[in-house]
Amino acid sequence: MSGAPRILSPVPVVFDDLPLRVDRDEVLRFQGYKKGIDVATSDVLDLFAEALTLGEQLMKPRVVYRAAPVGRQAADVIEVEGERLHVPSIERLWGPLEWVGAGICTVGDAIERRVGELFDAREFPLAVMLDSVGSAAVESLAEYANDLLCQLGLAAGHRVTNRISPGYAGWDTAEQAALWRLCSGTPIGVTLNAACFMTPAKTISFLVGIGPDAHIDHYFTQCRRCWMRDCGYRRSPAESTVHA
Ligand code: SF4
Repeated sequence: MSGAPRILSPVPVVFDDLPLRVDRDEVLRFQGYKKGIDVATSDVLDLFAEALTLGEQLMKPRVVYRAAPVGRQAADVIEVEGERLHVPSIERLWGPLEWVGAGICTVGDAIERRVGELFDAREFPLAVMLDSVGSAAVESLAEYANDLLCQLGLAAGHRVTNRISPGYAGWDTAEQAALWRLCSGTPIGVTLNAACFMTPAKTISFLVGIGPDAHIDHYFTQCRRCWMRDCGYRRSPAESTVHA
């Protein structure tokens, strides 16, 4: 990790060397399995194990993050450093905010390159499974980042909301550019093109709300994967963790 891991850091902080654990259920979800309904065969689990071992060798989880003070908040808008972020019902969902935290997380491009090589070699099952491992890895990383920020926030007396991303929850993908003006992915080697497509593809950008009265109990699921023991704010029991 470089820089001070402060929840209100006004300058970009890079988190690396993260002990990330890829969630098997998440990988299988990308393979089309429905949790509690579909059961993976031993062949599939063997393929998963092979792809996971390969993916863990290739992935390089990194997160860049910074915080910025909220200028104005309305029902569907947060104004931050001259950027107007339009997110439906965000005031109701997140409550009063004093800051937002913007972040980009990626597992790098080595998995994608290996997937391409496997397709070229016509090793389709492993290629598809490895691609799912990469997709699940970056989802797990975003969960990891959200949990880490929640832990840092609570230690500093601030509540950190669940994360949202452009393209989800009614937030227009076009506002990816505004999010990037708040926190660029450049320090971790991520680029954004004019169509708001991030490279490497196994990358997620996110925004969280921060403040002493921010809502952390509305559809709050992070606790289920959070590794912080004895947290007095835990909303649900730990089921698994994204921490290795
Ligand atoms: S257990 Fe829940 S409230 Fe506590 S730090 Fe983890 S995510 Fe935050």
